[in-house]
Amino acid sequence: TEKAFVMIKPDGVRRALIGKIVNRFEEKGLSLAWAEMMNVSREIAETHYGHLRDKPFFGDLVDYITSGPVFAMIVEGKGAVKNVRSLIGPTDPAAAPPGTIRGDYGVDVEENVIHGSDSPDNAVREIALFFNRM
Ligand code: ATP
Ligand code: MG
Repeated sequence: TEKAFVMIKPDGVRRALIGKIVNRFEEKGLSLAWAEMMNVSREIAETHYGHLRDKPFFGDLVDYITSGPVFAMIVEGKGAVKNVRSLIGPTDPAAAPPGTIRGDYGVDVEENVIHGSDSPDNAVREIALFFNRM
């Protein structure tokens, strides 16, 4: 079965949304294969968001992701990557429809509650980065 890397970001953990968010994946029919509360190092944050290194918000993004613990998960099931992305919704919560996680729980394009892998290849890369360390 396919695996997706999913991470409830520090704002989601601070706001005590872990249970509600995990529940949505389980209700959809996906399952939690692994989960860990962890602090993300700057090195891992910079690698994870390496494709955004040239953006003006890159420094803020790394500060945000390292600002407190995240809840990192492997979510498993048929079409896990696409199904997770559709439950999460678009990057900007203001554009995310109600019923999606970002649409229901976020207001800020940077502090947008949750991350989900955007392809199966990136899922493999992210699972190795966060769980096997570097
Ligand atoms: P993620 O990779 O976190 O699942 P995404 O794939 O929807 O989100 P990306 O384009 O990969 O979006 O951006 C990664 C993260 O960078 C976003 O989730 C958000 O936290 C932050 N981000 C993206 N665009 C902006 C922006 N214009 N201003 C501030 N932060 C942004
Ligand atoms: Mg992304």
